[in-house]
Amino acid sequence: MEKMRRLVDHFPRKHLHFLLLLSLAGVSLLLLLPSPPVEAKKHPRLEPTLASVEKQNTPTTPSIAEEELPPPALKNLSLLQPPAMLAPEPAEVIWQNKEINKGDSLSTLFSKAGLGATELYAIVNADPKGKQLTKIHPGQSIAFNLNAEDELQQLRYIKSPTETLLITKNSADSSYQFEEIVREYEIKTRQAQVNIEQSLFLDAKNAGMDDNLIMELATLFGWDIDFSLDIRGGDSFYIVYEELYLDGEKQKNGNILAANFFNQGKRFSAIYYEKANKEGAYFTENGASVRKEFTRSPVDFARVSSHFNLKRKHPIMHTIRAHKGVDYAASRGTPIKATGDGKVILAGRKGGYGKTVIIKHGQRYTTLYAHLNAYARGIRSGKRVRQGQIIGYVGSTGMATGPHLHYEFRVNGSHRNPLTVKLPRATPLKGEEKQRFLAQTNNLRQQLLASASQRTLAMNEL
Ligand SMILES: [Zn+2]
Repeated sequence: MEKMRRLVDHFPRKHLHFLLLLSLAGVSLLLLLPSPPVEAKKHPRLEPTLASVEKQNTPTTPSIAEEELPPPALKNLSLLQPPAMLAPEPAEVIWQNKEINKGDSLSTLFSKAGLGATELYAIVNADPKGKQLTKIHPGQSIAFNLNAEDELQQLRYIKSPTETLLITKNSADSSYQFEEIVREYEIKTRQAQVNIEQSLFLDAKNAGMDDNLIMELATLFGWDIDFSLDIRGGDSFYIVYEELYLDGEKQKNGNILAANFFNQGKRFSAIYYEKANKEGAYFTENGASVRKEFTRSPVDFARVSSHFNLKRKHPIMHTIRAHKGVDYAASRGTPIKATGDGKVILAGRKGGYGKTVIIKHGQRYTTLYAHLNAYARGIRSGKRVRQGQIIGYVGSTGMATGPHLHYEFRVNGSHRNPLTVKLPRATPLKGEEKQRFLAQTNNLRQQLLASASQRTLAMNEL
């Protein structure tokens, strides 16, 4: 999850949101290619299983009628629970499973189960672990195990398919015992070879990939491929990824382990590798970073309102004055993100630029963000920032006709067009780390090479 967040943070936002919007809207107009539809679906379909085994098997909030059923009829419900989670039970035990819905509070769930506030208070305060119950949220569930006298025996707070807090009441002294049960996913790897004939989304979906996985793939290759413009019929990709299982049922997809993307005759590769310091990232077969040192744009959802132009007529000065950056029209307050890791060398007013942030990235690069409404908290001269970190908010300070961001990109002191400048890759793997990478990813690299040569064969047969 952390990895995905980092990836998303590092992804050129314009493309990411574009894809996200497409997927949300359920259309892929711009990705649609004017080629005939696929006749046969040769790819294996995955069965997406959203609900966990438990959720499928345990009843949702039981009606009163169900609760009044005689105990033997409900007794077998407990057999559906994983045995490891159960202590031996007396025959009269009834499990009531309560799904947590929006607006539910712990006290409403307790009262639905016929339990009082006193008991709730006692549990929450019996142990620091009890405090977890105050953080319930929709999608989770709580199961109550009551005896024939409607007294609580056990409570299971199912936080996620892999995490459960089991609370057992000792009837002798009414104390509570807390046990955290963590299950491990069983990981299977799966591969898919997908030819793009309709669109990335449709063809990937037909191959059994879900929206998240497709987004992750697009995020990964978004550093090199503009998915709104660059995809052509005949493009294809090969992907190796993890699937996470519990009790033989697929729960969700895990990491993308490796992928090839063939775009307009060029092959792009990416392999997931966890460095010796446990930091995971994607690298090409040769250990170069897939990520680049800079994202293309510092604002999301923003339209370019004025391009880089060395002979522009200035809108306020009405004189020929070079426009040495790009303007993004965005509403006041829109967050502005550092396009690369670096050190703030100015966070202050700078003439016609108004409130300005300048970031120095290593020895060669600086980026400048002008007309800010405000600086982000903690942004000041000397401060280190990370790529994607919010540094300020769009405004119209200085000489500006309306709220927009003026963004400049300099290489060795000279202005370059931020929209077209070639962006350097992040630091490659070197020395021992590279040797470790080559050794650990040998199988994946062979798989990528095999997929590339198969594709070459297929192309030659055409
Ligand atoms: Zn400008």
